[in-house]
Amino acid sequence: MESRARKPDWLRIRPPGGERFAEIEGVLDDHDITTVCEEASCPNRSECWSGRDGPGTATFMLMGRRCSRGCNFCDVATGGMEPLDPDEPAEVAAAVAEIGLDYVVLTSVDRDDLDDQGAAHFARTVREIKRRDPSVLVETLIPDFRGEEALVGRIVDAGPDVIAHNVETVERLQRPVRDPRAGYAQSLSVLRQVERESDVYTKTSLMLGVGERDHEVYETLVDLRDAGVDVVTFGQYLQPSPSHLDVETYVHPHKFETWKAVAEEELDFLYCASGPMVRSSYKAGELFASALIR
Ligand code: SF4
Ligand code: SF4
Repeated sequence: MESRARKPDWLRIRPPGGERFAEIEGVLDDHDITTVCEEASCPNRSECWSGRDGPGTATFMLMGRRCSRGCNFCDVATGGMEPLDPDEPAEVAAAVAEIGLDYVVLTSVDRDDLDDQGAAHFARTVREIKRRDPSVLVETLIPDFRGEEALVGRIVDAGPDVIAHNVETVERLQRPVRDPRAGYAQSLSVLRQVERESDVYTKTSLMLGVGERDHEVYETLVDLRDAGVDVVTFGQYLQPSPSHLDVETYVHPHKFETWKAVAEEELDFLYCASGPMVRSSYKAGELFASALIR
């Protein structure tokens, strides 16, 4: 059963903690680095950072704490853009080495205010990490770069192992959920371009619980497969504050399992992570390893 009532038990989690957790927080502070893990107070931090159940993973957020866009589901502040920090790529690479991460997810705010929308800075960070330790696997969760192929191409050329770009929701709900500059067709074309121009793994994520209907989720999966996307993740949308988009439903864990089965068994995605607390980068390294050994 799905419900619009208060948060169900399966979304109650224990706060992260422990020695390793504090140590990593210290390194991130020393390098003045922003992570999605911390900004979103992600409940999966202990698991992801420790690498207890797989490769140690963290998600770094590049290019500042403010975004040029304002998606209705997202808690990142809009506007008041600041100049890029030219030292950020090297600082991120140093922190990755110090923590000893095996798998790094790089994402960013959108920077529509910059001529190249930050593509060169993003690409430079990938290269810095690989230069320090080529064995670190790098996943980039990229903006749509307003569909500009040359900018998407810069990320491809930097040589990450996985390129992800999120469609976030089904086609009908793009407008109420995402900033007007984003869009379903544009996001699909970014993913299609990456598939066409490289042999890296491609990945995308959808939030459930924003009013999508089952047939629309299915059609989205078909469109993504048609674009060549390898990995898809589903997670529950949680409202960051009362001024954000309402949660329409708390989707039952069984429904998440159903979508995983549809994606993997019927539509032949390489891998699908699906569950109420799954986030785009949840145990990303483990997903990657699982996808490779299938
Ligand atoms: Fe948040 Fe990304 Fe939308 Fe910016 S573009 S508001 S960071 S979801
Ligand atoms: Fe960080 Fe993503 Fe893991 Fe959350 S799920 S702790 S954001 S790597």
